[in-house]
Amino acid sequence: MNLGVYIQVPFCQTKCTYCNFHTGVVSRERYEPYANAVCREIAGCEEGAAAGVDTIYFGGGTPSLLEPGALERIIRTIQGKFRCEDCEVTLEADPETITGEKALAWLRAGFNRVSLGAQSFDNRELKVSGRMHRRADIYLAVEKLRAAAFGNISMDLIAGLPHQSRESWEESVGELLRVRPEHISIYILEIDEGSRLGKESLAGGRRYSAEAIPTDDAMAEFYEWACAQLAAEGYEHYEISNWALPGRRSRHNLKYWRREPYLGFGAGAHSFDGNRRWANVHDSARYVACIEQGIPAREQVDVVTAAQALDEELFLGLRQLEGIDLARIERDYKISLRERIDALRSQGLVELEGSRLRLAPGRLTVSNEVFVELLG
Ligand code: SF4
Repeated sequence: MNLGVYIQVPFCQTKCTYCNFHTGVVSRERYEPYANAVCREIAGCEEGAAAGVDTIYFGGGTPSLLEPGALERIIRTIQGKFRCEDCEVTLEADPETITGEKALAWLRAGFNRVSLGAQSFDNRELKVSGRMHRRADIYLAVEKLRAAAFGNISMDLIAGLPHQSRESWEESVGELLRVRPEHISIYILEIDEGSRLGKESLAGGRRYSAEAIPTDDAMAEFYEWACAQLAAEGYEHYEISNWALPGRRSRHNLKYWRREPYLGFGAGAHSFDGNRRWANVHDSARYVACIEQGIPAREQVDVVTAAQALDEELFLGLRQLEGIDLARIERDYKISLRERIDALRSQGLVELEGSRLRLAPGRLTVSNEVFVELLG
């Protein structure tokens, strides 16, 4: 089975108010040593040397902040280390970081897919969320990517940003569909207690507009409305938060939901080889120091037990709208799940068609509650 390779770039220009990822705003001088450390980690990797790689994904953070030459060096190092065939190579980029020259350089480096963090087309929502770009930057970014001949663009929106109204949401979805990227992700805002917005929601205050976050019901309505619009425009809904035009599903992300192996490089990057999961140290300075001193950057290695593997099969598999093969899972794990599933079916939360188990349409916004009940 071919591997996916993930490169973590944990740097951002500013910190979005809702974000609690391990990313930071650092001086640009730290980008180059970081890229060098990633190359060194890849070159010294002892896993998967005989395996082929068919997806590479640069995520973060904002990987488009790195110089195109640094991104290219990382890709060449991967190509030198692994057999790369028919690779989907994705770069996450913020709209305001894109120039015509950069887009061309990315294409030459080997990227064939760009994932644009649009989040919203409403300037007020973008501003209060701490995003650097504005609506006009999104159109310009797409124009530059298309001019450079990028034929595979993904864009994302967040349902539930402070000050979002039904009207502004419909406008954002409408504009997104007008731009017509090949792939769309829509996330419902999760208010993380560690983010500035999350802290304000708990402790009160007006700085980040926590009081203007739409209600859970409103967010669910926004999501449902978008589902109908995207379906009408020919987008296939294939994962709770993801839609694609035919043939444009994210091959890299499908590996996560299907529990296929991948290797992650960079600070905080995770890896999975089918039996073990491991992660690198999160702090980027510590990561670079480890690699430069020849000390393993791995912080944590966990062997996945059979019970954990079963939970992952259910939790990750059911995120996909095609669902999971229940008979195969019951056979592989020597377990009967029928009683638990009957209870969920009687509440209308899941559907069983032959041996295929999936979340019931219209219940995708309460998927976490279904998972809690199913995992027991
Ligand atoms: S750009 Fe992404 S990773 Fe960076 S702060 Fe914003 S949400 Fe977090």
